[in-house]
Amino acid sequence: MTTHDLTLISATDGSALPREPFVARHLIDGQWRDSADGATFVRHSPAHGVPVTRAAEGGTVEAEAAVATARRAFDDGRWASLSGKDRSTLLLRVADLIDRDRDRIALMETLESGKPISQARAEIEGAADLWRYAAALARALRGDSHNSLGADMLGIVLKEPVGVVSIITPWNFPFLIVSQKLPFALAAGCTAVVKPSELTPATTVILGELLVEAGLPDGVVNIVLGYGQPVGALMTTHDDIDMVSFTGSTAVGKAIVAAASGTLKKVSLELGGKNPQVVFADADLDSAADAIVFGIYFNAGECCNSGSRIIVHKDIADEVTQRVIALSRRVPFGDPLHPDTKVGAIISPEHQNKIDGYVQSAGKAGATIRLGGGPLTVPGLPGQFYQPTVVSGVTAEMAIAREEIFGPVLSVLEFNTFDEAIALANDGAYGLSAGVWSENVHTCLEFTRRVQAGTVWTNTWMDGFAELPFGGVKESGLGRELGRFGLDEYLEVKTVQMRIGRTRTPWVHDR
Ligand code: NDP
Repeated sequence: MTTHDLTLISATDGSALPREPFVARHLIDGQWRDSADGATFVRHSPAHGVPVTRAAEGGTVEAEAAVATARRAFDDGRWASLSGKDRSTLLLRVADLIDRDRDRIALMETLESGKPISQARAEIEGAADLWRYAAALARALRGDSHNSLGADMLGIVLKEPVGVVSIITPWNFPFLIVSQKLPFALAAGCTAVVKPSELTPATTVILGELLVEAGLPDGVVNIVLGYGQPVGALMTTHDDIDMVSFTGSTAVGKAIVAAASGTLKKVSLELGGKNPQVVFADADLDSAADAIVFGIYFNAGECCNSGSRIIVHKDIADEVTQRVIALSRRVPFGDPLHPDTKVGAIISPEHQNKIDGYVQSAGKAGATIRLGGGPLTVPGLPGQFYQPTVVSGVTAEMAIAREEIFGPVLSVLEFNTFDEAIALANDGAYGLSAGVWSENVHTCLEFTRRVQAGTVWTNTWMDGFAELPFGGVKESGLGRELGRFGLDEYLEVKTVQMRIGRTRTPWVHDR
């Protein structure tokens, strides 16, 4: 295949590229700080190759300072003791500031991550919505009461903030993912230490600027920039941290559970997925093919919800594959700064090699690379891009069918019977999301019941709402984000039992 068969968007004129890199510092106790040892790291745009961010590289000193500050800010009640109304008002102010600065945030998101600018803008808009939704939850926060425990007893169940939360985020949706966690933690009354991925620190720092502008009390949210070692590791072991909320790889998620077990912290994890879309013979193939293409190429496949395997009924497998290949050729890949681009750059050269390694090993294992299967050259851009790739003849034991590739690589598997389809969908360690395509409501419902996944989409893919919880089963995670369940993650339950009147049945009787 030549790249002439694809829809390529060449480099824009570069006028949106920054003349100087964005300077990112730690936010600790309301102050912007460089690292004590002066260390910094530079992030280059994965599409354009130019430096876009120079960030302070934190170490133990900064992580310790941030944890101590967040602890103090929680314990003295400067945030937790505010009314839900006051916390809500502040979160709403942050949402307005995000809207005001949407284009600035989106541009930095695109420059650091390589995602298309139109998508980045939509994500920032979606993030503002999450801050508004969490603001509403802050005012609806309540526990429970029991008034039927007997004449002399009243039971009250209080919901209290967990305490100090470590929030550790990845590079694929930096602003959206921190917004799936932080406003919910704040709505609950928690304080936080946040560490973005070292590949994408800028927009979390911009969020810090907006929190300061909105009037968040000093020390309630602290941001430490740097690597998993030592910053992330300290954030998962420190005695003064009560909870860890993490999104990233299953391997690091498991390491975090082990690290946090020393102090029995609460842990909430959003991890990987190998999400199947199952297409039955009676499916609406126009809609299914479009959703399959969206599901695999959105965010260049660097997405925990990527629909990275399709399981198609044998009778229609060839037709579906042909349709998907034809649509894949029409998806605009190229400069993420161009408004028409739908798929941008791959996050790093190392990650590009990892993606390619999966594709080549599938070829050696007997699968057929029907489209793509190699790096993509975008005219005028030095960064790394990967071709839209469709691999058929994939069998369940191949790595390409089981492991999270995190790239624009679709695996096609086939089935004959409903039971086979379910067995294939559930075969594997992950259980994040799954989809079913059929015009028969009974097929959809039975699939929904039997598939092991935190989210099931029927005749649609990857919709998301602030109201609906999101998370995985099996090795895709622990706990839920979004919806009212997302708030519950950051709350502890305290039971209060109150005697009314004098004790009527003393334990020790008068002799
Ligand atoms: P990681 O899981 O390694 O990184 C996610 C975050 O965790 C980053 O902020 C990272 O810091 C931090 N971190 C790393 N090690 C530790 C640790 N021991 N303790 C605490 N925090 C730590 O993801 P990668 O960026 O390395 O991506 C690798 C693979 O993970 C991808 O190829 C993809 O398959 C998967 N992934 C899944 C995501 C999802 O949404 N489910 C998101 C991102 C990746 P830093 O990297 O800055 O050192």
